[in-house]
Amino acid sequence: MKIAILSRNPKLYSTRRLVEAAKANCHRVWILDVLRCYMNITSAKPTMHYKGRDLSGFDAVIPRIGASVTFYGTAVLRQFEMMGVYPLNESVAITRARDKLRALQLLSRKGVGLPITGFANKPDDIDDLIKMVGGAPLVIKLLQGTQGIGVVLTETREQAESVIESFLGLKASALVQEYIKEAGGSDIRCFVIGGKVVASMQRQAVEGEFRSNLHRGGKAKLVKITSLERETAISAAKTMGLNVCGVDILRSNHGPVVMEVNSSPGLKGIERATNKDIAAMIIKFVEVNAQKGNTRTRGKG
Ligand code: ADP
Repeated sequence: MKIAILSRNPKLYSTRRLVEAAKANCHRVWILDVLRCYMNITSAKPTMHYKGRDLSGFDAVIPRIGASVTFYGTAVLRQFEMMGVYPLNESVAITRARDKLRALQLLSRKGVGLPITGFANKPDDIDDLIKMVGGAPLVIKLLQGTQGIGVVLTETREQAESVIESFLGLKASALVQEYIKEAGGSDIRCFVIGGKVVASMQRQAVEGEFRSNLHRGGKAKLVKITSLERETAISAAKTMGLNVCGVDILRSNHGPVVMEVNSSPGLKGIERATNKDIAAMIIKFVEVNAQKGNTRTRGKG
């Protein structure tokens, strides 16, 4: 097969591993920087160009689109879908998952366990907003944040009020969420491929920190998940429509709650913690599913 990997940096661990796994299975693989792709959006024959060349004949595209390039990246992916190229994850599913608010609303509609979460743009009554989600302590998150940046723990109502006020004062929309204290600074990353949890790890925040992101110094280790956690991860992936994703779950005293569904989950942490060849599993999934034109939406939506 001829496979395109949409990635801005060929040196990234995840990109390198996918290239290795594709080559090991005798596929031809191209790494394309999404921002350098340009396209002709014609109704007769949509095309994609890259450094002066027509990008045609691809069987599959593996999007690794960073949060900062979601808008253009999903447009490029949509163009590939319109050209009949099989996307590992569809553009519409990535767009759903990237919008934290939309993702939470879709998950709540499907009855997936979630932390109690409020969302506000310009509330006239912040006190009521805080009461609505059960009061302090609360976690307040910038809608646009990633890797734990813009995620703040507030212990008291006064702190919560002043953080909400300052976020809103900066014209940044914020999520106001129940603090899952009992998670003890750890979360569980379930790696889902094709509706199955193929690997999972527990990430533990460093001493004195509640955010377990590996980018914030968190440490990963193997974990055995419960069947309820497995079901939660699978139904979160299905709700988003993602073939491959990382579902982040907190162990709360009202059951597993989903914090986020990551449509470009990193491979380094999970491969190292579990010793599994996740890249090979992804390539296998592409091999089985990439029949030309086998995209559900073909760029719709
Ligand atoms: P990001 O998308 O920036 O990583 P997250 O929402 O995943 O932001 O939060 C970062 C980390 O903070 C999580 O991995 C988790 O460890 C911790 N965290 C986030 N929300 C909560 C919460 N409601 N209760 C307890 N811990 C939380």
